[in-house]
Amino acid sequence: MQLAFGQKVQSTVSSEKAIPLDPLVRTGKLPNGFTYFIRHNESPKGRAVFYLANKVGSILETDEQRGLAHFTEHMSFNGTTNFPKNKLVSYLQQAGVRFGADLNAYTSFDETVYELPIPTDKPDLIKTATRIMRDWAQEALFDAEEIDKERGIILEEKRLAQSAQERMRKQYFPILLNGSRYTERSPIGTDEVLKNFKPETIKAFYKDWYRPNLQALIVVGDIDVDALEKEIKSVFGDLKNPTAEKQRTKYEVPLKNQNQFIAISDKEQTSIQIQIFIKQPAQALSTETDYRNLVMRSLYNQMLRQRYEPILLKENSSLSAVSASMNRLIANLDAFSLSANPKPEEIEKGFKTAWREIVRLKQFGFTEVELDRAKKNFLSYSESRLKEHDKTSSDKYAKEYVQYFLNGVMAAGIQKEHELTKLILGDVQLADLNRLSSSYIKNENRDFILLAPEKDKASLPNQAALESWMKQVEEEKLEPYVDVANNKSLLSHSPTPGKIIKQETEPTFNLSTLTLSNGLKVILKPTELKNDEILFTAFAKGGTSRYEDDDYQSVANATSILLSSGVGNLSLTELSIYLTGKSMQVRPYVSTIAHGMSGSSSGKDLSSALELVHAYFTAPRKDPATFKNIIDRAYTAIRSRGDDPNSVFQDSTLSVVYKDNPRMTGPSFEKLARIDQDRAFDIYKELFSDASNFTFVFVGSIDTLAMKPLLEKYLGSIPAANFKTDFKNLNIQPAKGKIEKLVYKGSEKKATVNLLLSGNFDFSTDANLALSALKEILQIRLLERLREEESGVYSPQVVYSGSKYPIGLYQYNIVFGCAPENVDKLVASALDEIEKLKNDGPSQLNVDKWKAEFSRSLETGLQSNAYWLSLISSSLQNNLDLIIPEAYQKKLDKISPQSLKETAKRYLSGENCIKMVLLPENMGTK
Ligand SMILES: [Zn+2]
Repeated sequence: MQLAFGQKVQSTVSSEKAIPLDPLVRTGKLPNGFTYFIRHNESPKGRAVFYLANKVGSILETDEQRGLAHFTEHMSFNGTTNFPKNKLVSYLQQAGVRFGADLNAYTSFDETVYELPIPTDKPDLIKTATRIMRDWAQEALFDAEEIDKERGIILEEKRLAQSAQERMRKQYFPILLNGSRYTERSPIGTDEVLKNFKPETIKAFYKDWYRPNLQALIVVGDIDVDALEKEIKSVFGDLKNPTAEKQRTKYEVPLKNQNQFIAISDKEQTSIQIQIFIKQPAQALSTETDYRNLVMRSLYNQMLRQRYEPILLKENSSLSAVSASMNRLIANLDAFSLSANPKPEEIEKGFKTAWREIVRLKQFGFTEVELDRAKKNFLSYSESRLKEHDKTSSDKYAKEYVQYFLNGVMAAGIQKEHELTKLILGDVQLADLNRLSSSYIKNENRDFILLAPEKDKASLPNQAALESWMKQVEEEKLEPYVDVANNKSLLSHSPTPGKIIKQETEPTFNLSTLTLSNGLKVILKPTELKNDEILFTAFAKGGTSRYEDDDYQSVANATSILLSSGVGNLSLTELSIYLTGKSMQVRPYVSTIAHGMSGSSSGKDLSSALELVHAYFTAPRKDPATFKNIIDRAYTAIRSRGDDPNSVFQDSTLSVVYKDNPRMTGPSFEKLARIDQDRAFDIYKELFSDASNFTFVFVGSIDTLAMKPLLEKYLGSIPAANFKTDFKNLNIQPAKGKIEKLVYKGSEKKATVNLLLSGNFDFSTDANLALSALKEILQIRLLERLREEESGVYSPQVVYSGSKYPIGLYQYNIVFGCAPENVDKLVASALDEIEKLKNDGPSQLNVDKWKAEFSRSLETGLQSNAYWLSLISSSLQNNLDLIIPEAYQKKLDKISPQSLKETAKRYLSGENCIKMVLLPENMGTK
């Protein structure tokens, strides 16, 4: 839930009383002030999430403590009473909990939140998790040696954030935050403090602020609430508040009642962005009136978004991006914000176009038709939530209670919120919405923040110019907004249904395979994992591989052009209106060796989803104006690509790895020029012209009987030519041998390393599993060595990908950021870890950790429709058998340190190794 603003409106739903917490949550406060929230929930089964929420953040730091709220968070993983040194992470890994992906924490200005998901089938683990929470609450050790090791890691975390965005933020934050304490308390802190602070300084922070009357434990999951409540009382009851308790001040950003302006340019910034923030006091979201305001604001934002969409898509649009909304800004402030990216040669025109809609809105308001649509969409969203109320994930619930505790944000429960929503939608009037414009969009407390590439600095307006542009627009004689009239149907004719000519069932996985009269195959897997969720995907062999290099740019961009052009009788804007209140989506795709569609739907909207699928097959639209708009915007987007260090590094890497293959390298003006709209359209039509090549897979709350006529109507009616297509093997693969390239770009003192090990292999489920195991174990080792032992990196990543088609290929990418002077040392350490895997094999402990992680994520995966959809479709596309969980267990049993040592020797020889390094430009030889 977002926070709302405070504006009183007469209504049937208006009460200043706080909405009570969902009665399904057990909550209480111990005599020492420690709060807890517990809820039983079985989605997913056999799991619980534990959160420790602290009303403690960087805002509470003294000057000498800047960065230590966040440092404290790190130290909670580096030694507590019951888990000295790094024992905590290692212990949890053995239980199948991954560091970073599962186990996590964050620190912001006002709060620090720790998160731990655990399996609940072992009662010991629930007890231990409660113990860990207690350790986090008050028992971090702050060992001097561990602090020293952590300094380097946090400095690396800080280094990762150094960029043009960060440099510019430093300049405009004091303005946006009115010079308040927030501008001086960036959670990451200062180098000076991070390098030099004494253990006493951080211990003092901990002692002052980590105290029960600022803390809450939130547990949601497959647990016994009574037993856990008892446990919490006994484990947390003796936590003490400090004797000389400091006051937990609620810091605010003062409103200065003045307009401010700042224009900043940076040579690594890639677009011109004009932002307006109009600030005003915020109000907590705790009462019915607050909730009513939240709903209204959400309707307002939705309608505004719909007004901007056609403007952005118009031919010769002078904007490459635009958005506006009313939202929470920070601390005690809300803001109306507008962000417009004008094209560099049309800054004035672009900005005026964006501002004109706001002025039009202030003058004429929204229309009844718009409000009606926005209400339908909001209601549909609320109904979807309601339908899944007993299948809502524990994590979603827990996050709500965390916000309830920290910021008093209502957590009334899904049913109660739905009732309120219906009442509010029933009586909110157009006049209420239009009043928001005048209460929010004012000429006071207004900040202009302009960001631009260095080269465009001279063309930026100053404050007087910008204000005069606004005034000129305000003096124009505007016409009221005219809604996109739309009574058109999507399809010109109702499709002539085909027939289901064959049906087979597969009992192990509960699959039905239907063959339609046009040769199209449909696989259905009904599940009860959600109450109202159907996911689907469709694929045919082919994709871009079927076309020559000359056509590549056209085919690769075909779907994005098509998607912006609308479909059937409707433009994109008309389509979004047509789909008002529906919970569904459909997207065609063309990948390298396949093409098809993917989507999702509620049960009631399945018919609409399939109608749209039919339309994307049979009635794609060609729209020259939209095409020109897309190409124009793409030109603007890549105009400054060469100034952004990460884009330059990415493009260089692709060039080196794929030896300048034009299908693999980054975007360029030359490539844009090769996109031919007619060709893209013809190729799209060709790819989707033959139903007999496609297989659809549907997973979820499927009513097979009800679905059959829909399948016959919308899929059975797609024309077929019975001409089997296939993909081509273009033999695109990473360069062989040992290659090294240094790229010099960017002004920050930072490096990025990307090591790629690759080769050909005979793809099999076993080889794939072994390489995934090795990947995870290597990642654990790199974390232990490069981060914890050498303090040289923040978060090293190992990414594995293995493919069977068009050629058997495996790839390991090892990626990390670090200080430029540490690159050689850290690369040597990473390669040394690979050598060790080859020579000695992994430790039994790390193999066990991987097995635990794998089994645990398989258990939760099997409880999601998305997992099943991907499992079934990838097995089919790769000609692999579906494997039942028990069979997986057998495969796991076969994996040992010895077998992985063989895998490492075989695949990680280092024979094909590409080392790419991004370094600061001033290190490059002239
Ligand atoms: Zn951190």
